[in-house]
Amino acid sequence: MSKINIIGAGLAGSECAWQLASRGIDVELFEMRTESRQTFAHRTPHFAELVCSNSLRSDELTTAIGLLHHEMRFLNSLIMSSADANKVPAGSALAVDREGFSKFIETKLLETKKVKISRQEILELPVDSREIWVIATGPLTSDALSKSILKHSDEKHLAFFDAIAPIIFKDSINFSKAWFQSRYDKGSGVDYINCPLDKEQYYQFVDDLLKADKTEFKEWEKDTPYFNGCLPIEEMARRGAEVLHFGPMKPVGLTNPHFAKSPEGTPLKNRKEKPYAVVQLRQDNKSGTIYNMVGFQTKMKYAEQQRIFRTITGLENAEFARLGGIHRNTFINSPKLLDEFGRFKKFPNIYFAGQITGVEGYVESASMGLITGIFIANFLQNPAKKLTRPNNKTAIGSLLNHIAPDAEQQKITQENEFQPMNVNFGLFEPLADNLKRENRKEAYSARALDEIKLWISS
Ligand SMILES: Cc1cc2nc3c(=O)[nH]c(=O)nc-3n(C[C@H](O)[C@H](O)[C@H](O)COP(=O)(O)OP(=O)(O)OC[C@H]3O[C@@H](n4cnc5c(N)ncnc54)[C@H](O)[C@@H]3O)c2cc1C
Repeated sequence: MSKINIIGAGLAGSECAWQLASRGIDVELFEMRTESRQTFAHRTPHFAELVCSNSLRSDELTTAIGLLHHEMRFLNSLIMSSADANKVPAGSALAVDREGFSKFIETKLLETKKVKISRQEILELPVDSREIWVIATGPLTSDALSKSILKHSDEKHLAFFDAIAPIIFKDSINFSKAWFQSRYDKGSGVDYINCPLDKEQYYQFVDDLLKADKTEFKEWEKDTPYFNGCLPIEEMARRGAEVLHFGPMKPVGLTNPHFAKSPEGTPLKNRKEKPYAVVQLRQDNKSGTIYNMVGFQTKMKYAEQQRIFRTITGLENAEFARLGGIHRNTFINSPKLLDEFGRFKKFPNIYFAGQITGVEGYVESASMGLITGIFIANFLQNPAKKLTRPNNKTAIGSLLNHIAPDAEQQKITQENEFQPMNVNFGLFEPLADNLKRENRKEAYSARALDEIKLWISS
């Protein structure tokens, strides 16, 4: 059996190598970092370096990330074994001693005697190779390789400032103030959720944006373009008080039905009330449990986003599945370029794994490396068997469905610009409607753990 080549010994590449090596498969792991060569964010030559926070976030089963931890432990994750072995006190979060964390991973990989380390940068996408390759080069993929991937993917950009808009759980929106309607009643007529602002509210909102605490760009980030020319809302507000009013918050083609009724709910004849500005939210998953704030990419700090967005009518109690953000990131348009197992459609001997596929975060990236390793091992060791993916009731399956969507989700993904995503329950197949809200998170987790066991045993 020929060896598997993995480019990038980060979270995803290390986990993928482990899954293969522990199934007896030889791996060559290419890593460009050395003592003297780093990336903008990495500071060591070590494997699976955590470039920023030392937290792998909540370990509780009532959270989607905690559930992902548990699924990965069940699937013999090296990243999770290392996190558990190198845990430091952090309440319900799983935080680690970062040096110990990396060292454990490196040691365990080398102990398998199946992993050869090659300290070199791979400059080109290996399209002429007949061997299997996994591209796990992360958000800071080297420039040469980025250019080569770009060339073979027929896309215009690969490295962007992600302009990420927040995503909100629908059931936290107040529909006694917000309403469903598309501009000029286009499409189904009710494709968007609308949150109205009157004139006074709008100017206060603009003022809040200007004064909010924002993430500053680092020197090395200054030349990177914005994704698709998307400007953060604070930047639009800075360019003029009316820019948002004529941009993403334009109130045209909409009528607020709540003004068409008396306080007792009796319909009124005069429906002249138009909001001065509107925030629109668009469905983000096929089950309609989460909605993204259209055009609301932002670089405000997280606490500021929650404070300011909750001043919007109807969003007073909004719960966020994801907050907005802007940072440099390299990721491919996975729904278009990859097949259901993460293979590059044009060159199926090349897999992509980790953050470069459009998941976000240490654990999510590692989980995509893990599943890629399992897929490759199964293709090699059980070629006659039809391979399935974990389904969307599991955290890993839901993330996989975000980057390589099934037909139904594909439609939604095409309407929205593909953007990186952390794991969250909004990505999961919904539960029965009659389940009480306070029991839902436990129910998601219990169902997922059953499903992941079923999948791996099948
Ligand atoms: C500035 C910054 C801060 C972040 N903060 C957080 C945070 O606080 N919490 C969180 O959960 N996530 C954070 N992330 C995201 C997190 O870093 C990623 O989710 C995670 O590291 C991705 O794992 P990966 O394996 O896909 O990529 P990485 O862990 O980045 O690994 C990719 C590896 O590929 C190597 N490589 C790149 N190009 C080549 C090449 N051509 N040849 C050979 N090797 C190559 C790199 O040196 C690197 O070792 C942050 C990211 C950045 C950029």
